[in-house]
Order: sequence, then structure tokens, then C-alpha cells
Amino acid sequence: MPGDRLLDLVGKPGGPLADAALWRLEVTSSERISPNILRVELTGPGFDRFSHQAGQDLMLRVPTKARSRVVNRRYTIRRFDSRTAAAVLDVCLHGNGPGTEWLRNARPGDEIEAIGPRGKITLRPEADWHLFVGDETAMPGTLAMLEALPPGARGLGVLEVGDPADAQDLDGLADGRSDLTWLTRPADAPPGDTELLGGVIEQLSFPSGRGHAYVAGENGAVRELQQVLERGGLAPDQIAAKAYWRRGLPNAEHGEPTRSS
Ligand SMILES: Cc1cc2nc3c(=O)[nH]c(=O)nc-3n(C[C@H](O)[C@H](O)[C@H](O)COP(=O)(O)OP(=O)(O)OC[C@H]3O[C@@H](n4cnc5c(N)ncnc54)[C@H](O)[C@@H]3O)c2cc1C
Repeated sequence: MPGDRLLDLVGKPGGPLADAALWRLEVTSSERISPNILRVELTGPGFDRFSHQAGQDLMLRVPTKARSRVVNRRYTIRRFDSRTAAAVLDVCLHGNGPGTEWLRNARPGDEIEAIGPRGKITLRPEADWHLFVGDETAMPGTLAMLEALPPGARGLGVLEVGDPADAQDLDGLADGRSDLTWLTRPADAPPGDTELLGGVIEQLSFPSGRGHAYVAGENGAVRELQQVLERGGLAPDQIAAKAYWRRGLPNAEHGEPTRSS
């Protein structure tokens, strides 16, 4: 039973793990869908019972080279297909951290444990409009949430990528209620700077009604973009900000960006 093993691993689940279970998953496919994005599909016993909200993630328990140790790495669920009981993850390829390395080498049949669903940032049903801001790691969550917009809600997104070929097709997204702007970094600019995103967000005029913003990406960039949004008139409780990674430092073993060096 997935839940029993979760109890062994983390004790009695509470807080963010309260609704999560431990799953033994198997890779069913792995495909480079664009220059820097790897799409990995995972399924497993009992996974047809998996239930999540758009914006939530799976925490993969990634084996490291020292096989006795695992580190957790979190990836947003781009899509869950209940027919095949498979979760789709879109992984931004960069460097050779344990998450990227394992997923890059994963082949159909490879197994990995995952805890999920994780994550508290999901669509706020009371908002009239939803603004998504972030780098390519925010793309799976942004697109999943745009596809899940409640009737009548408007979606806006501003996403930065290093290569325009990584931008994903928007056809059919939320019946034309979504407006997604892609920004491309200059070739010599690393991800995690805020010049491009901050500049565009500063110039945005928010639609009328109550809005909610969702910001994800590099640790320092997320904080700066949050301030830009506040200066633009959003109250702190209208902004859900989540650091996904931190420039120059591996994420901690629990999967979140390291707090200090
Ligand atoms: C809730 C949550 C959801 C997430 N969803 C996704 C998702 O859907 N898709 C996705 O690709 N990522 C996602 N991430 C980010 C991903 O977990 C991190 O990028 C993580 O650092 C990858 O682990 P790693 O082992 O490859 O690299 P680490 O060992 O953590 O880091 C190794 C090196 O790579 C650098 N690095 C880490 N990430 C990046 C990056 N994106 N670009 C450039 N350099 C980087 C670090 O600064 C470090 O120097 C999510 C993170 C969180 C917390």
C-alpha cells in the first residue's frame, strides 16, 4: 500500500504531505520535445487512484551515485492521463544535478519512487484573472493552470525561455481566454536574471476585477518579481511566489532551493 511506505519514510504525514502518497513509478516514455525540454511519462501500480490539482507536483526520490542515498527533486505535473494512469513531466535540461541526470538517462522500464501530489500553489477560484510569470521551469505549471482556468476567468502569462523553440503551442488553451507572451533571453544571458521579465511586468496594465499572480523560477528572481508586482499594485496576498531553484547552488535534499551557501 503506497501510504504505508510513506509512513515509514516520513512518519505520520502532516502539513504539505498530508494528501500525498508514496508511489513506485516506472518510466513509460522519455522524449526530447524541444531543444531543452525533456518530456517524461511515469505510471505505476495503483496510480489510477492518483488525484491532483493543476499546479501541483511530484517529488521524485532520485537515487544518487552513492546508491544508498536519495535526494528529492520536484517536478510539476504537466498533465495526468487518467485513461493510462500516467503523469507527464516536462523537465528543463541543464547541468548535471542528480534530478536532471537521472531523468536525462531514464529509459522505459526504469523505476523511481515519487511522493505526491505536493504543492500548495493552485488556481485561486475567486480570482477574475490569473497572471503567471516565470522562467522555463514555470512553464509546465503555467500551462497546466491555464488549461484548467475556471469558466469566465482570464489567464495571462509571461514566460522567459533561452531558446524560442522551447515555447509550447497554445492552440485550444482555455478557449482563447489566455494570452501568453514568450520572452527570449539574449544568447549570453543566463536564466535567473529579471531584466526581461521585470521590464515587461512593469509595463503590464492589469485587467479589471480581482487578480492573482503566480511567480516561479530562480530564487532571487522570484523575490524581485514579487516586488515588481507589488509596486504595480498587487497586494501580497494576491501573489503566490515559489522559488524552484537557486543559481549556483544545488537544491537541498528535500527538493527546495538551498537557503544559504
Ligand atoms: C515545486 C517545484 C516544482 C518544479 N517544477 C519543475 C518542472 O516542472 N520542470 C523543471 O524543469 N523544473 C522544475 N522545478 C525545478 C527543479 O526541481 C530544479 O531545477 C532542480 O534544481 C533540478 O534538480 P537537479 O538535481 O537537476 O539540479 P540541482 O542539483 O538542484 O542543481 C545543480 C546546479 O544546477 C543549477 N540549476 C538548477 N536548476 C536550474 C535551471 N532550471 N536552470 C539553470 N540552472 C539550474 C543549480 O543552480 C546548481 O548549480 C521545480 C521545483 C519546485 C520546488
